[in-house]
Amino acid sequence: MTASRYDLVTVGGGMGASAIARAMAGRGAKVLILEQEQRFHDRVRGEYICPWGVAEAKELGIFELLRGNCAGELPWADLGFGPRNLIETTPQQLPGLSFSHPEMQEALMAAAEAAGAEVRRGVAVQGIECGEQPIVLAGAKGRTERIPARLVVAADGRGSPARKWAGFSVEKNMQPFLFAGVLLTGVAARQDMGVFIFNPDLGTLGALIPQNKGGYRAYFGYPTTADYRLQGGDKLGLLFSESAKVAPLFAEFYASAKSAGPLASVDGGDVWVNHHYRNGVALLGDAASTSDPSFGQGMSLTLRDARVLRDQLLANADWDHAGHAYAEQHDAYFRNCHTSTVWFRQVFQEQSPAAALRRQKALPLIAEDLTRVPDHIFSGPEMPLDDSVRSRFFGES
Ligand SMILES: Cc1cc2nc3c(=O)[nH]c(=O)nc-3n(C[C@H](O)[C@H](O)[C@H](O)COP(=O)(O)OP(=O)(O)OC[C@H]3O[C@@H](n4cnc5c(N)ncnc54)[C@H](O)[C@@H]3O)c2cc1C
Repeated sequence: MTASRYDLVTVGGGMGASAIARAMAGRGAKVLILEQEQRFHDRVRGEYICPWGVAEAKELGIFELLRGNCAGELPWADLGFGPRNLIETTPQQLPGLSFSHPEMQEALMAAAEAAGAEVRRGVAVQGIECGEQPIVLAGAKGRTERIPARLVVAADGRGSPARKWAGFSVEKNMQPFLFAGVLLTGVAARQDMGVFIFNPDLGTLGALIPQNKGGYRAYFGYPTTADYRLQGGDKLGLLFSESAKVAPLFAEFYASAKSAGPLASVDGGDVWVNHHYRNGVALLGDAASTSDPSFGQGMSLTLRDARVLRDQLLANADWDHAGHAYAEQHDAYFRNCHTSTVWFRQVFQEQSPAAALRRQKALPLIAEDLTRVPDHIFSGPEMPLDDSVRSRFFGES
């Protein structure tokens, strides 16, 4: 067996890969990041981290780094019930954080490099061979290099081919909704508040997230049965007019708004791998579990993965054991994220006679007492999630 030059090789150089690479390189591990993009650009991806994910950023030591380079704090959130102060009302006592996704990726990758990780860009991974000493097949300039490692961390995002190369099977719970996003300028809205509002009658969701340099990300969730697809710049007016039907305040927000990036729709639903470690390969971030973007949990989960994997690798000399322990922990917190967001869909967005009946029971009680709504999205997967929480939310008790 060839001795590997690297303790850890990451497939991908997004948030998840750079966060674990920085954490482990900073502890003396030999780390290599392989990223296919020479330069990051807007892919219509997340930029809002909820307070529980901000707590993970703090644990990983990247909170100040993000704030200093690309991120702004959003202490307020409006879910259609009026402004809520997240610092005062979450167990973490933290704000949300928002940034341009490509700027965040550049900042984290530079931080991983500064911590000692080697970064190779423009390198597309083409395969992984699992085993006691896993091997990454890295392609660049028409050549394929075999790179052995002690551990391969596959963090190649939603649709990850690495899952297949490493022999994992994928579970899916797709929902009949699409989620469109576009970057805007000229929006007339607060700079310190994220807005996330469902219109249960229409099955739609409008969201607006300020970024720190005056830009805003507008999102619009809609049923797959709609007779349109929000894809391409010519659909911007339609995104504005449909958002205004969610709640009139979106019409005010977008009165003078202009597009500053691509407009794209993605599928709603969760895709995940159960027990996502095997034979020297650990999945991380969206590759491990792509959570429904409508609920903005993806980056919090990604940072949680990086922190849990870091802790396991530092605590165990046997990294095979560490990988299995990481996978077990992930299954538990991802399951809770999944369950709580499925409940949200059933109460706030599903379009069916059963859902209408559900809402008749639940919504009047929620209007009287907002604590009936589970707070996992902001406060994290450790919040209670038992039958009594469900009954209160669904208005069955
Ligand atoms: C429309 C939309 C909105 C979202 N909004 C939010 C939000 O508001 N809040 C939130 O928390 N989450 C949100 N998310 C989810 C969030 O974007 C992801 O959870 C997060 O980006 C996952 O990070 P990652 O590092 O796992 O993957 P990615 O960010 O996808 O990074 C993967 C990296 O791997 C590279 N790569 C892929 N294949 C290879 C290969 N073969 N070789 C080398 N490199 C490779 C890619 O170029 C990329 O840089 C949203 C997602 C979508 C689609």
